[in-house]
Formats: sequence, C-alpha cells, structure tokens
Amino acid sequence: MFNDPRARVPAPHTPAPRLIVPATLLLRTVEGLRARSNRWRESACVWTGSRDGRVSDVVFHHEMADDRATAFSLELPEREKFALYEKLGRRGDALLSLLHTHPDDGVELSPVDQRNQLSSRIGFWSIVLPHYGARDWKLEEIGFHVRCDRGWRRLRLAEVRDRLHVDVTP
Ligand SMILES: [Zn+2]
Repeated sequence: MFNDPRARVPAPHTPAPRLIVPATLLLRTVEGLRARSNRWRESACVWTGSRDGRVSDVVFHHEMADDRATAFSLELPEREKFALYEKLGRRGDALLSLLHTHPDDGVELSPVDQRNQLSSRIGFWSIVLPHYGARDWKLEEIGFHVRCDRGWRRLRLAEVRDRLHVDVTP
C-alpha cells in the first residue's frame, strides 16, 4: 500500500530521491515522536542512513539535547547540531530526513521551519506529522517536503508513493 506502481506519474520537477525505511523503524519513529509530544508540544527526530536513501537509524532531538520545544516550535541547539554532523561523519552516514510534529492538521513548513535548517543539501527530506503524531501514519495527512535548489517543495501524494518505500521484510 505504500508503494503502488500504478501511482507512478512523471514528475514535473527534479524527482526527490528515494527513501527506504524499515517498517519497524518507522513505527519506532512515530511512537517516539508521539510520546515526546504528548499532545502538547512539538517533537522531532532525524533519519540517518546510507547515501542511497536506505534509512538505518532514528535519532530523536530529545536524546541529543534539551530540544527547547514549545507548543508551536522546536529547535536543536547549534552545539548538538554539530555533534550530530560529526558523529554521522565518523560513521560515514548521511542525514536523510528531518521529521517533526505540528499541533493541528497543518503540515506545511512554517517560515521558521524553512529557516531552521538541519541540512540544506538538495534532496534532503523534511516530514511533518499532524496532531503531534497522535494518529497513525497516513500518507495523505502527512507533509513530505524535499529541499531543492530554490528552497523547499512539497511532494504530491503520487510522488510520495513512488519515492517512499516502507520495507516490511523482518
Ligand atoms: Zn514546524
């Protein structure tokens, strides 16, 4: 259901790179964000993995630092950002996506989200979960954005289906 080949349509833009995420890791991500948000504050994490888009780990902001969230915002202190870059560099891993929660059903990137960059690499994903992550993972309710040469572009549903693969093999 996450990867229906019939949903394949030609993309008018530079296509987003693929992300392949193990189902167990996806579940751990959603549950971790939901627990941290606890229905009142934003929470965030990053997916890291190989440069070809295979996600191998999730790192929650609140495991790295006091993520200083409020009901409507969240940021990672500069020092922890650099510590994260260093750690990934040592392991040869790439930052593939940022994921964070929003209070309501709005899943566009806010101006603050757009400025508050963890990565400005073209092809980096930014995924926004509505309702503080309290609901199940449904592609049509989630905001999928990809960094392009001119800022961020929200992916259409067909593109998300084509580009995001949930790997259910154990
Ligand atoms: Zn946001």
